Amino acid sequence: MTQLAQRTQRIDASGIRRVFDLARSLENPINLSIGQPDFDVPDGVKKAACDAIGAGHNTYTPTQGIAPLRRQLLAEEKAFTQRDWSEQELLVTSGVSGGLFLALLALVEDGDEVIIPDPYFVMYKQLVRFLGGTPVYLDTYDSDFGIDPDRLAALITPKTKALLINSPANPTGRILSRSELEAVAAVCRKRGLLVISDEIYRHFAYGPMTSMAEVYENTLLLAGHSKSYGMTGWRLGYACGPAPIIRAMTMVQQYSFVCAPAVTQYAALACPQVELGPYIDDYRAKRDLMVSILGEHFKLAPPDGAFYLWAEAPAGYTGTSFVEKAIANNMLIIPGAVFSERDTHFRICYTVPDDMLRKGAELLCKLALD
Ligand code: PMP
Repeated sequence: MTQLAQRTQRIDASGIRRVFDLARSLENPINLSIGQPDFDVPDGVKKAACDAIGAGHNTYTPTQGIAPLRRQLLAEEKAFTQRDWSEQELLVTSGVSGGLFLALLALVEDGDEVIIPDPYFVMYKQLVRFLGGTPVYLDTYDSDFGIDPDRLAALITPKTKALLINSPANPTGRILSRSELEAVAAVCRKRGLLVISDEIYRHFAYGPMTSMAEVYENTLLLAGHSKSYGMTGWRLGYACGPAPIIRAMTMVQQYSFVCAPAVTQYAALACPQVELGPYIDDYRAKRDLMVSILGEHFKLAPPDGAFYLWAEAPAGYTGTSFVEKAIANNMLIIPGAVFSERDTHFRICYTVPDDMLRKGAELLCKLALD
């Protein structure tokens, strides 16, 4: 038997795989587990993709991304973050996952620590471990899922490589306010610490949204098109940050992904014509609907953005045992232990039609009262 690399032993996909295995066994479940938008790619963007294929834009692109997309993204980032990014500070990636992978490959060495607020997006913990680093969890449960700056300061050691934040967050939907980000920046500035800021949900903000890059110079920003344009399968994202880090990421991309998908890059040139307002309004209304029904029976994290709700399992249940009960009643939700070192909560994704949402919320309330 060929021996697998030791690093494969360090990652574990069992939690989420179990849920998806169960999903396959259910017939027409109320499925509140899928972490993606329910709208299709807008027509103008689809047409741009077809036109790109027709025009023969089917070959490799420069590793950094095609020039018109780079110009577009630099202008967008300048407007969003109020910073004058240079050419050397941008790399087009294969999704935010691609950006995250390149960033961590370029930064994390054996024994390095990466501070990750808990709960966290699943990939963070697994990738840091895969690359030989140690995730150091910053508990946020008793700070309303925000970041307590003193707790952050206490976790920083000489081995700390970066703080990895996500706002609006998956799984909580929490947005870190400008003043919270400023407090985080003050701690990081004092220690010269890089912040990797995953802002993939930045457009799904139901209140004010500040980018970490606005308040802290040493930020590596990761953003992308998957969620905003229903393009999860098209694999497009980008990284904006300190030139030496972008340079290293570009080098790694050259020998791995090569470039982000060409067709998708050309299609993304049509994204600025898309009016995102209606999609955001739709999800805001779904959030309000869920909060109004579930808020009566569950303790919820403040859902400021993204399209998730993070709810505490009722008394007497762990996150996992409550999810098992939901699954026994033909509903799929995700146990909090997939996103956390604790097993006290569950995650709902509300990007489904309102009738299913209502049915799901009512069933959850019924289960909580059982
Ligand atoms: N970051 C977060 C917080 C996410 O929730 C996701 C997708 N679920 C990603 C990154 C990866 O997105 P992409 O499709 O751009 O790779």
